[in-house]
Amino acid sequence: MDKAQLKPDERRIQSAVEALAGFVDESKPGWTRRPFTRWYEESRRWLTEQMTEAGLAVRIDAASNLIGRLPGTDDTLPPIVIGSHTDTVTGGGRFDGIIGVVAGLEIARLLQESGYRLRHPLEIVDFTAEEPSEFGISTIGSRGMVGNLSEAMLEQKDPNGLVLREALDSIGGRTSEMAAEARKPGDAALYLELHIEQGPVLEQTGHKLGAVTGIVGIHRHRIIIEGAPNHAGTTPMGLRADALAGFCEIGLAFERHCSAHGRDAVGTIGRLANEPNASNVVPGRVIFELEIRSLDTELSDAIYAFFSVEAREIADKRGLVFLEEQLSKSNPVLVQPEVLALVEKGCASVAPFIRLPSGAGHDANQMAVIGPIGMIFVPSRDGRSHCPEEWTDYGDTTAGVAAIAAAMLAFDGDSGGSGDE
Ligand SMILES: [Zn+2]
Repeated sequence: MDKAQLKPDERRIQSAVEALAGFVDESKPGWTRRPFTRWYEESRRWLTEQMTEAGLAVRIDAASNLIGRLPGTDDTLPPIVIGSHTDTVTGGGRFDGIIGVVAGLEIARLLQESGYRLRHPLEIVDFTAEEPSEFGISTIGSRGMVGNLSEAMLEQKDPNGLVLREALDSIGGRTSEMAAEARKPGDAALYLELHIEQGPVLEQTGHKLGAVTGIVGIHRHRIIIEGAPNHAGTTPMGLRADALAGFCEIGLAFERHCSAHGRDAVGTIGRLANEPNASNVVPGRVIFELEIRSLDTELSDAIYAFFSVEAREIADKRGLVFLEEQLSKSNPVLVQPEVLALVEKGCASVAPFIRLPSGAGHDANQMAVIGPIGMIFVPSRDGRSHCPEEWTDYGDTTAGVAAIAAAMLAFDGDSGGSGDE
């Protein structure tokens, strides 16, 4: 067959998304399917049936990820992996993660119907527990697959005292074998993930598809501004060291430094404590945490450095003490130019697209440890996600599946051999 003919079926994609939306905890808002719950197990049973019908050999790996595999004509090659997650946040939607797994399932069905065989083996993965969990860890399954789920993480407990190790084993994992089974660099030929954008850029620019250039790194800092708590009535304005007033000026300076770089960086002060936080006391101390996200580590460092200099000047001028501490620094994951070219080729064959970075983390962050990654975004209505209103048109979702399929075929054909039997 002509491999350009892998045309996804929109009705089938819609019915798969709707079927998964049936396995939800109705005592919670939205479409809630938390990992390690009855609804999660039911949805996985359904997915297992669907994968089997699509001709995939289904298994659960040591980290409890659900994997459907199709052999390649050269089964000695590492697999092309297509995946995402079917767990949701509490009060979440029907599309985040889910469409990435449905994309894999649809592509397996199209291959089955067409009789076309890839050179590479193909693996469709539903990664366990991608969203932030009660164990304080996210991307649990993909971490486990690539050897990034430490013994200390496995011993984490949820608020009910359940240990993560036991939770993973209860849904078919074999955590005692996880380290030995962990995949290594080179164990994936390519990882592809279709995901909702979770932001407004595609919708506002009128594009169906986004070729993801990379996943931002996150730099987090904690800052303490020390002033002098004092009586709010008897301390004249000119004799105060008001930590919160200082914070206001410093916070606006932070916003200005982050805004100076277009779409290349975003910065947020999302956490703040004001002490003593009493209406009749001049604030004596403000503790806040800020983060900067960018694909460019040097830019993040530079934004923070310039901000920090200005913040100290503001603090000095106001008689405040400025203390800073870096909390964490994760590196960006960049899509390799060859893979981005394939992803763009896949997108271009379907609909107009733009390049954009991913401001949120994904299972792709972990999969980048073992192979090159590519991601495609489809629009989120009003830019919303992690809420019941989360919506992506089925036509756009179908365009995304077609683009992933095209990128997969281009990669399978490009990296030697024709794939034809
Ligand atoms: Zn997701």
